[in-house]
Amino acid sequence: MNTYIKDNLETVHENIKNAAAVSKRETSDIKLIAVSKTKPLEDLLEAYRCGERDFGENKVQELCDKFDKMPSDARFHMIGHLQKNKVKYLIGKTCLIHSVDSFELAQVIQKEAFKNNTSVDILIEVNVANEETKYGVSVEEAPELVKKISALPNIKIKGLMTIAPFVEEAEDNRKHFAALKQLGIDIAKQNIDNVSMDVFSMGMTGDYCVAIEAGATYVRVGTGIFGERNYKRE
Ligand SMILES: *Cc1c(COP(=O)(O)O)cnc(C)c1O
Repeated sequence: MNTYIKDNLETVHENIKNAAAVSKRETSDIKLIAVSKTKPLEDLLEAYRCGERDFGENKVQELCDKFDKMPSDARFHMIGHLQKNKVKYLIGKTCLIHSVDSFELAQVIQKEAFKNNTSVDILIEVNVANEETKYGVSVEEAPELVKKISALPNIKIKGLMTIAPFVEEAEDNRKHFAALKQLGIDIAKQNIDNVSMDVFSMGMTGDYCVAIEAGATYVRVGTGIFGERNYKRE
């Protein structure tokens, strides 16, 4: 039997523990999100059997399909760019939308959440490095967006998310992770109703240890758990 997912998970958890120790934090403060996009259900089930409960997907249809087929205590995080016309399918199937970067998108989430008599937890996606190719609001725009969204009663802002640049040296992203953390601290100081800044979703396979040292509370690891994805770069 193939045990690479189990072995990879052991390595990732060991790395998380070490990075937490370096930064004098509790391992339990850091949540691993197993990014399972493009991977078959059996891979998710294998990770589930190893104890993982949080899965990250970037396509609405795929997230919904997997949600329907996985054990009911598996949680699904929407980590990809979200189109307004797809929000309705996600309600009730995602535990957290990491990728909210406009008031218009938030308004649609509000409308659908209200219709379903529920509330939706979200993160604000911030393009900390100002990369042209990336979604997310700028560091400068983020506080204003948080304030506007906080007025929507069926949405709860839990924190911030960023996708750092693709770099050879993880260290090069430390400044971007630190900037996201600082932004969260600054926003938290404003004590906005309906807003908490407890979640920092940052760090992927190449740089999650640095992200943890800089204050990540959620790390999103795909390749490091499930192996290379079988598709051309999006
Ligand atoms: C694919 C993806 C990841 C995981 O990337 P890996 O490098 O495979 O760990 C994390 N976050 C987001 C938003 C992604 O789309």
